[in-house]
Amino acid sequence: MEQRDGDAPMLPCLRPDLVSLATYHPQAREAGADWLDGNEFPLDWPPSLKEKLAWMYRQDMENNRYPDGSHGELKYELCNYVGEGLTTGSLTADWLALGNGSDELIRSLLMATCLGQNAGILIAEPTFSMYQILARTLGIPVWAAGRDEQFAINTTQATELMNQEPIRVVFVVHPNSPTGNGLTPAERDWLKRLPPKVLVVIDEAYFEFSQDTLLPDLLAHPNWVILRTFSKGFRLANLRIGYAIAHPEVITALEKVRLPYNLSGFSLLAAQFALTQRRQLLSGIPEILTERERLGMELTKIPALQVWPSQGNFLYIRTTAVPLPQLHQSLRELGSLVRHTGGGLRLTIGSAAENSRLLQRLRQTCGG
Ligand SMILES: *Cc1c(COP(=O)(O)O)cnc(C)c1O
Repeated sequence: MEQRDGDAPMLPCLRPDLVSLATYHPQAREAGADWLDGNEFPLDWPPSLKEKLAWMYRQDMENNRYPDGSHGELKYELCNYVGEGLTTGSLTADWLALGNGSDELIRSLLMATCLGQNAGILIAEPTFSMYQILARTLGIPVWAAGRDEQFAINTTQATELMNQEPIRVVFVVHPNSPTGNGLTPAERDWLKRLPPKVLVVIDEAYFEFSQDTLLPDLLAHPNWVILRTFSKGFRLANLRIGYAIAHPEVITALEKVRLPYNLSGFSLLAAQFALTQRRQLLSGIPEILTERERLGMELTKIPALQVWPSQGNFLYIRTTAVPLPQLHQSLRELGSLVRHTGGGLRLTIGSAAENSRLLQRLRQTCGG
């Protein structure tokens, strides 16, 4: 849960609008509980790969030296991996930017587009909270459109907002978090029709699970950006590595606003190594998808619950049988930590044992 800091009087040198902003505190996680609230991969790296990484760190890395601020070697490896999604041509390093998590890239995008321009962003709720949080910290206004019962964006409403307000960036997630739905053909058409004065950010944080990318369309749309991360499928949330794929002009702007040494040498090394070992690292994904289908199927048998199809490593549920804060708290007390957001609960797919415990606890609290 996010917490709100007290409205303590602030020094006059500080920005007054920060008083009304909450500090982002991820919810506390008790040791021993099942952590199904962060959409992380449930397993750490295999010990043999961790040891190899540690060995490379000992051999090649000097703690006293600054890391490679150009990210050259990692970008080179990434070109191969990302380029696999293209049927024609290849990708070059000038189409890539690296961030300290994709969170940093979201902030860089905001700085490169809206900051000081009397311009703002459009989101469709419920969606990833970070766009809104980071925009607010920069004093950038946020407009929100709604979604239908299957969580497709209300593009009529979105278009109206775009016509009325100074919107310069649209953020969409494919598949959306917390709801799990991928972009529909109608949503894709709508994105393609947005004019070049609007930057379209397509967050593909869950690409390794969905295997569905808008990358082929990006080449024809210089106002599009795709965001990816090593935090989910590659099991590297701890090391904070995200990347953006976009037209070189957008990439140049991102590179201008970033900090020179935004990624540690260890993170660069780990991401590079992860790419070379991707067959082994990503080999755990089919089991997550199988577990997602199993859990989803079992959840549909609980009459009090509504559950939606998902293309990510998580499922979204709603219920009217029990107030959500109460359900969230009950699950927590029973040992399953999930995320309460957007009028529902987002359940990360964990190990088979964690999923079975969650299912049993949901049956216990919701009946069925
Ligand atoms: C998890 C997630 C990210 C990843 O953020 P990092 O900063 O790279 O860890 C980005 N976008 C969405 C929608 C996510 O769910």
